[in-house]
Amino acid sequence: SRTSYTPEYLSTILGVSKVSDKVSEAQKTGGQNFFVMKDLLKETGAYLAHRLGSEDAFIVSSASAGIAQSVAAVIGKGDAYHLMHPYDSRYQCKEIIIPKGHNVNYGTSVELMIQQGGGKVVEAGYANECTPEHIDMNITENTAAIFYVKSHHTVQKSVLTVEEAVMVAKEHSVPLIIDVAAEEDLTKYYKLGCDLVIYSGAKAIEGPSSGLVLGKEELVSWVRMQSSGLGRSMKIGKENILGFVEAVDQYLDLGSESKESMLARLNPFIDALNLIPGIKAQCVQDGAGREIYRASVKVDSKLMNAHELIDRLKDGNTAVYTREYQANNGIIEFDIRSVNEDEMSVIVDKLKNVLGG
Ligand SMILES: *Cc1c(COP(=O)(O)O)cnc(C)c1O
Repeated sequence: SRTSYTPEYLSTILGVSKVSDKVSEAQKTGGQNFFVMKDLLKETGAYLAHRLGSEDAFIVSSASAGIAQSVAAVIGKGDAYHLMHPYDSRYQCKEIIIPKGHNVNYGTSVELMIQQGGGKVVEAGYANECTPEHIDMNITENTAAIFYVKSHHTVQKSVLTVEEAVMVAKEHSVPLIIDVAAEEDLTKYYKLGCDLVIYSGAKAIEGPSSGLVLGKEELVSWVRMQSSGLGRSMKIGKENILGFVEAVDQYLDLGSESKESMLARLNPFIDALNLIPGIKAQCVQDGAGREIYRASVKVDSKLMNAHELIDRLKDGNTAVYTREYQANNGIIEFDIRSVNEDEMSVIVDKLKNVLGG
């Protein structure tokens, strides 16, 4: 049996995150009992909205499902015919304006999820620049929403801020949907004025496979309505609904790991890495500015390049998965969230084995 280390939260290759015992127990309670599903979804949503300070909320099966159902919601606006015919040509007010640099691939494409909801993507600005004016000039009578992606996957420079996106949306009375799938702040984006805010349940929140859409009451009611439309193929089970609520409770009560605690675990690991020939390790903060610190390792070995090292680390009984986004530049990263000291020493041993020393 293979044991995996260094989970890459931000993709789904390793199943995203590990749930706690309490979350697991809540999933068991959910799995072993019956619920009136409509009520369960309504009441868990109301509870989370209360805890997170939004008008309403709705638990969905994933952030991706949240995107599709939110887009369908802003196009259909509660219309009964639309619910069953979301792709009918009569619905022309379906344009979703997104900064070009936000139309990214996070495992699948943001654009495809928007299309699944019946939306037509309109890219604003350039790959490396999008101002509030770029959004503004694309708004027409066919605009259903503005869509913003807050993520390390997107272009970070010269793209309008969330606050600026809120201003443009308010000026034109167009809803603003924000995908904050992997973000750690569960209240900030609604407070800033976003109308629908979408989280992934299994990323920062460390819940089971799930997602959350929170926002304004009427909009959330239209999202909820999609359960009897295209949302049916994205249905979430009762076990994961209860598991997710428990995960949010725990996350709010305990918070995520502090910077100090993370650095205290990371620094000895980096010191140990720097004793291995052919690599040079340093501490780097998350590229999107979150309070996440990682070991960034420059591979400069006569034996192999970064890509070959990545392959060797995945090989064998104990597979080590790294962040590979910068492998082309000879850099690999170790994300130590959910990784304990024992597991880090296994990683060090494996690197010594592969690189010598
Ligand atoms: C991970 C991610 C998603 C999708 O989350 P799922 O819950 O896995 O569907 C959407 N948007 C961004 C920016 C992500 O990082």
